[in-house]
Amino acid sequence: MAVQEWVKLSAARLEQHRDRLNRLDADIGDGDHGANMARGFAAAAARLDGAPSDQPAMELRAVGMTLLSTVGGAAGPLYGSFFIGMATALRDAGASLDAAAWARALEAGAAGVQRRGKAEPGDKTMVDALLPARDALATAAADGASLAEALRAAASAADAGADATIPLLARKGRASYLGERSVGHLDPGAVSSALLLRTAADAWG
Ligand code: ADP
Ligand code: MG
Ligand code: MG
Repeated sequence: MAVQEWVKLSAARLEQHRDRLNRLDADIGDGDHGANMARGFAAAAARLDGAPSDQPAMELRAVGMTLLSTVGGAAGPLYGSFFIGMATALRDAGASLDAAAWARALEAGAAGVQRRGKAEPGDKTMVDALLPARDALATAAADGASLAEALRAAASAADAGADATIPLLARKGRASYLGERSVGHLDPGAVSSALLLRTAADAWG
């Protein structure tokens, strides 16, 4: 159930945060990130509705494929790679995920984003939220934390990573066209990544 719950809750929260994400993207991009994410997750939630809910890998893969085909722009293929990467890491996982499984999934998801987009830490992208979250989750899992605790640690690390994009100069994506004028703004994709991780902490909490 939890993947479906995560995706449904994410769709609802992205809808709530649509205008804020659009405004953040308007500052350093083309103003569509909130609309892109809300549309993609609404489609992903609809796709999972009524699907078997005991196969996290298949569900995550369906989410990734749906995002690939409905989001467009930069974020569609990147979040598509994120969810498909998570799915691949969980091929052999059972129905209920633990912190170690989630840590493997987040590592593979972040790697998928980097393979697709070639962004490094500090380039002012979603990677700046995803990599701290990956590391926090791995540490929590190694310390024997529960999944809920590990996801809360990951969400807090993602929030901090997103906030830390403000002073950065964008080196990837549309915002990089602005050069120095990208400095002083939050990266919208880092904010949406942090929102997805906070929602995971709530869905599994
Ligand atoms: P578009 O820029 O095509 O309009 P979105 O507005 O939906 O797409 O997404 C923009 C976000 O995508 C950025 O805020 C950034 O976090 C992320 N992004 C863009 N390019 C890359 C990249 N190469 N690697 C990782 N993330 C990226
Ligand atoms: Mg945009
Ligand atoms: Mg766009």
